[in-house]
Amino acid sequence: MLTQLTKYCANCAQNIHLEVNDTATTFSDYENLIALPCNNCNMNVFNHIDLNTIKIDKQILDVWGKHPNLYFFEQDEEIILADEANIALFIDAIDNSNYLQFKKEILLTALCVLFYDNRVKDDGYTEEENEVRKGIALNILPYLKLKKGMIHKLPDWLLLDYIKDVLFLEIKILE
Ligand SMILES: [Zn+2]
Repeated sequence: MLTQLTKYCANCAQNIHLEVNDTATTFSDYENLIALPCNNCNMNVFNHIDLNTIKIDKQILDVWGKHPNLYFFEQDEEIILADEANIALFIDAIDNSNYLQFKKEILLTALCVLFYDNRVKDDGYTEEENEVRKGIALNILPYLKLKKGMIHKLPDWLLLDYIKDVLFLEIKILE
C-alpha cells in the first residue's frame, strides 16, 4: 500500500527515502519504519516524515494520528484528505483516544470540506453525478451536527471563513 516514506533528519538535514514493499501494511510495520534512526548520523529526530501513500487505510491512519511529525501531505492536508472513501474511517478516528487532538481536527475539517464541496448542484457534473454528490453531503451532515461543539472550536487557519459561513448556518452555530 505504502510506496515510499521520506524522513527529514533534524540533526544533519539528510533526507532519507525508505522504499516499502507490499508486505509492510500493519500498524507495527509502519511504527518500525518510523522508529528507524537516520542512516547518516544515527539520531532519531525528524522535522517531518512524509507518507507517500496510494490509499489511506486504518493502519496507516492510526499511525499518522499519533505522530505529530507525520504527514500525508505537507500543505492543505485537510483538503486533499476530503475524499468520500474516507468518511467512515475518519468518523471512527475522531473518537479514537489514541489520536492527537490536532490530527482529529484535520480529519473533522476534511469532512467539513467534503460537505461544502458536494452540497450544491454543479453544472460541471452530470445529473447522476450531482445526485451522488448530494448523497455524500446529506450523509455527512448529521455527523457534523453531532460534532458542532468541536467544529465551533476549529482554528481559523484550518476551517476557512467561506466554508464556515455556509456550514455554521446548516448546523446552527451562530457567532
Ligand atoms: Zn541525520
